[in-house]
Amino acid sequence: MNYAAVPQVDKEVFARPFDNWKWGWIDVPPIIEGAEAVYEFPLVDRDPLPRWTFERATLLGDAAHPMYPIGSNGSAQAILDARYLTDCLTSDANLLYALREYDAERLPRTAGIVLRNRMNGPEQVMQMAEDRAPNGFAHIDDVIPREQLEAVSLRYKRLAGFDRDSVAAVRPA
Ligand SMILES: Cc1cc2nc3c(=O)[nH]c(=O)nc-3n(C[C@H](O)[C@H](O)[C@H](O)COP(=O)(O)OP(=O)(O)OC[C@H]3O[C@@H](n4cnc5c(N)ncnc54)[C@H](O)[C@@H]3O)c2cc1C
Repeated sequence: MNYAAVPQVDKEVFARPFDNWKWGWIDVPPIIEGAEAVYEFPLVDRDPLPRWTFERATLLGDAAHPMYPIGSNGSAQAILDARYLTDCLTSDANLLYALREYDAERLPRTAGIVLRNRMNGPEQVMQMAEDRAPNGFAHIDDVIPREQLEAVSLRYKRLAGFDRDSVAAVRPA
């Protein structure tokens, strides 16, 4: 990691939001106070693009759909892009049609993930728990019923193509 490219920030930026993070087994404020330097890694994405394909050239992976690193999706979607692009190129004799087909299938799918990740993707359950039990809880089931947790998870899996039906529908390479 090239830390020269990462903005160093004043300790105060993080000290205040974490000033009550003391749980006996870990005491965060002195860790921040004792740090030699504090760096801020901002979440960065881009609005979905209107198209990826320009004649014989197309985009894939982060170049096509940089997204917040939520839901373990950045490289996973790059792999799904590569898989679909390979399918298109091997099954369509016309290169330009193959690239357009790839664009038409993968662009809207990944655009949905880019936008959902701005709403925290499946990790929105952490905010739900904080909103419902700001003073803590003994067991997650007391705060968010299991069906609700599973519904959030399944919605995101379907969007990303990781749900059981989508995976089962993929034919072996
Ligand atoms: C902190 C962090 C955590 C992440 N966690 C996850 C995770 O848990 N799960 C997940 O799926 N994804 C995760 N990601 C996202 C994932 O790393 C990226 O989505 C993925 O690496 C994108 O792959 P890519 O091949 O499209 O681009 P890259 O991995 O960026 O590859 C592009 C390559 O092209 C090279 N390059 C650039 N310009 C040129 C040039 N002119 N000539 C030759 N080469 C060039 C670059 O050096 C680079 O090696 C995370 C990302 C970050 C930053």
